[in-house]
Amino acid sequence: MSDCIFCKIAAGEIPATLLYEDDHVVAFDDITPQAPVHTLIIPREHFVSLQEDIPTEVLAALFGSVKTVARVKGVAHSGYRVMVNCGPDANQTVPHLHVHLVGGRPMSHGMVNFA
Ligand code: AMP
Ligand code: ZN
Repeated sequence: MSDCIFCKIAAGEIPATLLYEDDHVVAFDDITPQAPVHTLIIPREHFVSLQEDIPTEVLAALFGSVKTVARVKGVAHSGYRVMVNCGPDANQTVPHLHVHLVGGRPMSHGMVNFA
């Protein structure tokens, strides 16, 4: 997708703080962090959201990389939360599938804030 910002980050065409990459995924810090640690993990291949038909190996790489990225960010032992916004009601703003990894301080139990 030529006009997709996350495709451009994956291709190295626009800068990001890269933390991890492999054949399937790229991880980088969120430009507007909502927690002391706020990292995004994306598939290199463009998928709009989790609602698409995504190959099993891509999903495995995406979620399989979470623990590695957590180690890189220093939150593997303290803990972290993983979220995927999918579609309008979830307020997905970038239409390229991405996993949010947030942590760095204790969180409350609630995960949902309605508009
Ligand atoms: P979502 O609302 O789930 O679609 O999340 C999109 C996330 O992408 C937001 O947290 C944004 O801050 C983040 N974001 C947007 N543009 C960039 C960028 N160029 N580099 C890093 N993160 C970005
Ligand atoms: Zn894309």
